[in-house]
Amino acid sequence: MDGLTTDTPAMDKLDLRDLSFEELERFVGDELGEKPYRARQLFRWLYRRNARAFAEMTDLKEELRERLEARCTIEPLPIAAVHRSADGTEKLQLALKDGGAVEAVLIPGDDRLTLCVSSQVGCAMGCAFCYTGSLKLSRNLTCAEIVDQYRQALHHLGGKAERISNVVLMGMGEPLANFDAVAKAVNLLMDDRGYDLSGRRVTVSTCGIAPRLKDLAEQTDASLAVSLNATTDTTRSLLMPINRKHPLAELMRALEAFPLARRKRILFEYVLLAGVNDTDEDARRLVKLARRISCKVNLIPYNPHGASDFARPSDERILAFQKILLDAGVTAFIRQSRGQDIYGACGMLGRGARRPDSTARIS
Ligand code: SF4
Repeated sequence: MDGLTTDTPAMDKLDLRDLSFEELERFVGDELGEKPYRARQLFRWLYRRNARAFAEMTDLKEELRERLEARCTIEPLPIAAVHRSADGTEKLQLALKDGGAVEAVLIPGDDRLTLCVSSQVGCAMGCAFCYTGSLKLSRNLTCAEIVDQYRQALHHLGGKAERISNVVLMGMGEPLANFDAVAKAVNLLMDDRGYDLSGRRVTVSTCGIAPRLKDLAEQTDASLAVSLNATTDTTRSLLMPINRKHPLAELMRALEAFPLARRKRILFEYVLLAGVNDTDEDARRLVKLARRISCKVNLIPYNPHGASDFARPSDERILAFQKILLDAGVTAFIRQSRGQDIYGACGMLGRGARRPDSTARIS
C-alpha cells in the first residue's frame, strides 16, 4: 500500500503507529479483510487505551489478534533510562531499534506537565548555541517513533492521559525537516477518536524553515513556536545557519501569512546570549518584529553545555531586556530553566543519547 512503509529504519513488520486513521482503515479492509469498525477498535486501543501489545485488545477475536501479531508491530520503544532532575524534570531515554536513542522530557510547571518530544536523532541545522546541533543529524524519526514518545511517557506516568497537559515538538531535531512524519504524528495525537489533544496543547517548534509553515498550517491544527534568537540577519545567520537560506524578512512574511485561530498566538523563543543578542537595541528590534504578528515571547537564558563558548547574561540584563518588551506591550516571559542537571534543558538534549553506529549496549 502506498505510504505505509518507511525507509528508516528497516522493519519487517508493519508498524501500525505509522498509519493515519484512514490508512489503518484501508489496511484493515484491504489487507486483513475485516470490517471498518475493526479499525476504530484498533485505533482506540492504540491511542485511547495506550495498549502496548495486541494481546491486550480483548474485544478483538483471537484469530485476528494472531494475524495482527504475525504481520504488524506496536512494540513500544524501551525506556533505556530515566534521568530525574532535582527540580522534578524527568528525561526519558528511549532505545531505538537500530541501536540509537532518543530523548523525551517531562517538564513540570506550576499547573502543568509538558512533554517535550524529539523529531530526529541529532539535528542538521547547526544552531551555534545548541548541543543537539553539535551532534549532527543521524536520521529522521518515523511517525511511530514520535508518537511512541507520548505513549511511553503516558505509560511511565501510569497511563493517566490527563497528567500531560502539553506536548511540544522542541526536543532533538528540527520538526519541519522531518515534515511528513511530524505532521502525521501530530494528527494522530490530535485525532478525536484517540488521545484527542487540542491544537492549543500541541506545539511544533521550528528554527525557521519558512516555506514549510504553509504546509504545517494546511495539514495540522498544531500551535506554532519559532526559535528566533536574533533580530538582525547578521546575528541570526551567525547563530542559526538556516537564516542564510530563509532570512528574517522571508520568515516574518511567512509568519504574517500563518493562519491563527482566535486567541491562539505564535510563540517566539529567544535564547539570551550575553553580549550577542541581549542589548537594549536587540530588545527594541524584537518589539518591532513582535508587533507584526499575534505572538508572545519566551526569553530563555542560555544553558551552558560545554559544546559552545556562549554565556548566560546577568539576571539584571535579562530583566532589563524583558522590561523593554513589557513596556512596549509585548507579552514576554522568562522561561525558568528546568532539568539542567540532567541535560534535559532547552538546547541540551542528546547528551548521553547514543548514535546508531554506537556499539554500546543500552541496559
Ligand atoms: S536549536 Fe533546534 S534546530 Fe537548532 S540545532 Fe538545536 S535542535 Fe536543531
